[in-house]
Amino acid sequence: MYIVCSDLEGVFVPEIWINVSKQTGIDELKLTTRDISDYNVLMKRRLELLRQHSLTLHDIQKVISLLKPLPGALEFVDWLRTRLQLIVVSDTFIEFADPLLKQLGRPTLFCHHLTTDNAGNIINYNLRQKDAKKKVVEALQSLNYKVIAIGDSYNDISMLRKAELGILYNPPQNVIDEHNDLMVVKSYNDLKEIISQLIDKEQ
Ligand SMILES: [Mg+2]
Repeated sequence: MYIVCSDLEGVFVPEIWINVSKQTGIDELKLTTRDISDYNVLMKRRLELLRQHSLTLHDIQKVISLLKPLPGALEFVDWLRTRLQLIVVSDTFIEFADPLLKQLGRPTLFCHHLTTDNAGNIINYNLRQKDAKKKVVEALQSLNYKVIAIGDSYNDISMLRKAELGILYNPPQNVIDEHNDLMVVKSYNDLKEIISQLIDKEQ
């Protein structure tokens, strides 16, 4: 039986930090997992920038509350959930993701969480576990699921490689170039077709 593990940002919703960068005018905040492959290096730099500019969790949540899912994402998620179970597996934080998940009909989310102080400053981030995306796939496989994994960036690669079917969805060229053996899909319609074919073959 198949189950789907999908990344969030870049697949269903815009990149949160790019939008925070646009809204705040802090250029360096636009770096994402698409640019820096080491997530800890990236997150430490982001928190340092927030501190330097006195931006709180509330400021970031304000920006996120203005974001909408990517065009067609809700329809795709709705379609997918009529066919298979979906788990959104993200390297974002529960404090950021909730307004976006709500707009997608609240699929199950596995992600990380933040630590804030009394003034609402983000003082640390807590990864649920190391290599969390890949671990989700392994856990589901131990429950006898076959996993279809969808993602767009460096931080998805180990999840995609562990899955029975790993799909790069609209990745940037540098990710394609470095992982040119992975399947690349560029529209929700193509995703639907690939997933439908796989399920039909199984039945
Ligand atoms: Mg992503």
